[in-house]
Amino acid sequence: MASQRQIHVGPVAIGGGAPVAVQTMTKTETANLAATMDQIVKVADAGADIVRVAVPREQDVEALRTIVERSPIPVIADIHFNHTLALKAIEAGAHCVRINPGNIGGPEKVAEVVALARERGVPLRVGVNSGSLPRHLRQLEYDNPVEALVTAALETVALMESLDFENFKVSMKSTSVPNTIASNRLLAEKVPYPLHLGVTEAGTKWSGSLKSAVGLGTLLADGVGDTIRISLSTFHAEEEVKVAWEILKALKLRERGPVLIACPTCGRLQFDMDSVVAEVERRLEAYEDPIEVSVLGCAVNGIGEARHADFGITGAKDMGMIYSKGEPLKKVPTEQLVDELFKEIDRYYAAGKTVQRDELAAAEAREWLAENEDATAMTPEKLAALEAAAARNDSEADAVLESMLAPAAAPVALDEAVSPVAGRRFSRN
Ligand code: SF4
Repeated sequence: MASQRQIHVGPVAIGGGAPVAVQTMTKTETANLAATMDQIVKVADAGADIVRVAVPREQDVEALRTIVERSPIPVIADIHFNHTLALKAIEAGAHCVRINPGNIGGPEKVAEVVALARERGVPLRVGVNSGSLPRHLRQLEYDNPVEALVTAALETVALMESLDFENFKVSMKSTSVPNTIASNRLLAEKVPYPLHLGVTEAGTKWSGSLKSAVGLGTLLADGVGDTIRISLSTFHAEEEVKVAWEILKALKLRERGPVLIACPTCGRLQFDMDSVVAEVERRLEAYEDPIEVSVLGCAVNGIGEARHADFGITGAKDMGMIYSKGEPLKKVPTEQLVDELFKEIDRYYAAGKTVQRDELAAAEAREWLAENEDATAMTPEKLAALEAAAARNDSEADAVLESMLAPAAAPVALDEAVSPVAGRRFSRN
């Protein structure tokens, strides 16, 4: 269930139905102003709504004042162990301070931080981490790690409420994806406050992205979670932001920039699609509109699978085709596919988002497509013909279907015993 309460980190609303906010954390020494600002600008360009910086030392909190002034997005100060630094971070103008009440020096120190946060109208992120649960929950953590995490989070929430403070969001961090999902689902049912989601120490760009997509994606699809951070072992914080956006875009929770659709390729591929997809992805980064662009490795299924795409290309050995919304635009030599695709996209924007269609070129492309698509493929055109025939007469429809299937080879006898997933491929119990 989505959080009922809403807080504001600078101008960014978190929770209470606001769009899921993307955040990341700089990987630089915060006191290194040039490096930190450089990374903040990069993550902001990549689409971060909020950035967090580590503040472990006096020199970091000194740099924080300048960072807050210069940053194009709100800044959260990340503090552990030292409540004095938390107080100084609030005074330095941090838009939010992240503390772990369990390691900041006891309830009195938490109360001091809360008092100043209240006075300055600064929200807090309070949270618990599976690696540093309070001592009295250690046995429970061993017996039931999810319950231990949720109990620790609820104790933190109770502490905030006992201080009459509600301007906070909560996070529960675990390296375990199932525990992240289970604990956040439980906590979302019990508290009205915004939740910050993340799988902590998720791993490399590849494995960490997958873990985060599964863990956070599952929760977000349930409506749980108000802000997310993808933790990846890379110095390039903007990569975390890109992954966060792909998760949000995949769930259609937010739109940002183009959506690239690409087939997985198979033995029918006759051109260097890897390079083509990489080049299309790279060039699409220059566009902000949520345009959908598709790359198909061949025209075996016609272009029906990509009929929702605003633009797309399908290639073959020497010649390929550019299409828009399932309709051919023109055929072009394979090595010019990417250049011509972007010419069409640019013409579309120059004409106020209207597809520019040359009927002669489109007719040539249609002809090329008919020569290259598989005769048995169920293209939109064939489906339409089939439906029209069915509306007239069932036997006529059967004849249309038979004529489509006629060129197909004799049915292949499937042998379950030789399947790479023997025993499971053809039956599901
Ligand atoms: S579009 Fe063609 S190349 Fe791509 S996966 Fe499908 S059949 Fe294979």
